[in-house]
Amino acid sequence: MAERIYNFNPGPSTLPLSVIEKMRAELTDYMDTGMSILETSHRSPEFKDVHAETKALVKQIAGLSDDYHILFTGGGASLQFAMIPLNFLQDGKSADYVNTGTWSKKAIKEAQIVGNVNIAGSSDDKNFSYLPTDLNLSDDACYLHVTSNNTIVGTQWHQFPDSKAPLICDMSSDIFSRTLPFEKFSMIYAGAQKNLGAAGVTLIILHKDLAAQAKSGMNTMLSYETHIEKDSMFNTPPCFAIYIVKLVLEWIRDQGGLAAVEKVNNQKQKLLYDTIDSSDGYFKGTTTEDSRSWMNATLRMRDEDIEKKFIAEAKAIGLHGLKGHRSVGGVRVSMYNAMPLAGIEKLVGFMADFRKANP
Ligand code: PMP
Repeated sequence: MAERIYNFNPGPSTLPLSVIEKMRAELTDYMDTGMSILETSHRSPEFKDVHAETKALVKQIAGLSDDYHILFTGGGASLQFAMIPLNFLQDGKSADYVNTGTWSKKAIKEAQIVGNVNIAGSSDDKNFSYLPTDLNLSDDACYLHVTSNNTIVGTQWHQFPDSKAPLICDMSSDIFSRTLPFEKFSMIYAGAQKNLGAAGVTLIILHKDLAAQAKSGMNTMLSYETHIEKDSMFNTPPCFAIYIVKLVLEWIRDQGGLAAVEKVNNQKQKLLYDTIDSSDGYFKGTTTEDSRSWMNATLRMRDEDIEKKFIAEAKAIGLHGLKGHRSVGGVRVSMYNAMPLAGIEKLVGFMADFRKANP
């Protein structure tokens, strides 16, 4: 059997080994039922417990009040790009969006199909290498949409904008990676395949006040009201993916919650960015310093050939998935919660060796 690698893939991405082992231990016989949770009805008491515990863990970890609905849907974060304007972009009104890269653009495109969009800020002029701070917010926007971590270009909001309109955030690539004032948000959504578990389920945290403003008359599956009323059980939910979210949230809780997770993530990002900054330009960050992502660090080297060599040699010693997104090239280090500090230590050691060998 191959040794486990350090997996820097951007998503689906590395999972805590203890979570995978728990999954394996419970796979053929879940809680003495004589069957797998994969084979269990979503209406069974066992799965109902899994679902209830997962929702409770989300609230506990984020410190959320009962003013929020916790929903699980399919369709990825991409379906939310469409559902948000379908439900909350009222006729004759507009929504504010901040354009910080590919995923924001996709969200904007879906909203423009539904109604009026005000681009309240954009970093398009500089290849999305920074986060716009001077936002041009509308007075009567239905909501403001931001992308907390820009997975492809490697920027991350460290201070979220204040707005009168409800704040909606795509947190797909940094959810539960740090402490945050979660109650600042009216809606948070995240595909699970980076920091929460496996692909197939999207977590939605939705404030009851915003939920109450949803338009009516929507197709059933596209309406938040349906998922709220049916407690995410209108149709068969992605049961196994929800079960994995539960295991990942228990892993977060058991290490001391978000403060503990943030501490390790901070050590990781500091070690990596210090290595980049002290390399005399051998490794070059692609973003402004104050917008650097703690989850996806993007960097360039002197040319594409040397980048290719770097990525290949890293892979050969067990550091996988360092290729930048195909739309931007370069090197990307995805260091989600489940990437241990030891993975970054090994990587920065390799960066130093590589630099010496390839001056
Ligand atoms: N938003 C962000 C920030 C992402 O990184 C991604 C996927 N990489 C998406 C949305 C799209 O998510 P999904 O594939 O779950 O639709």
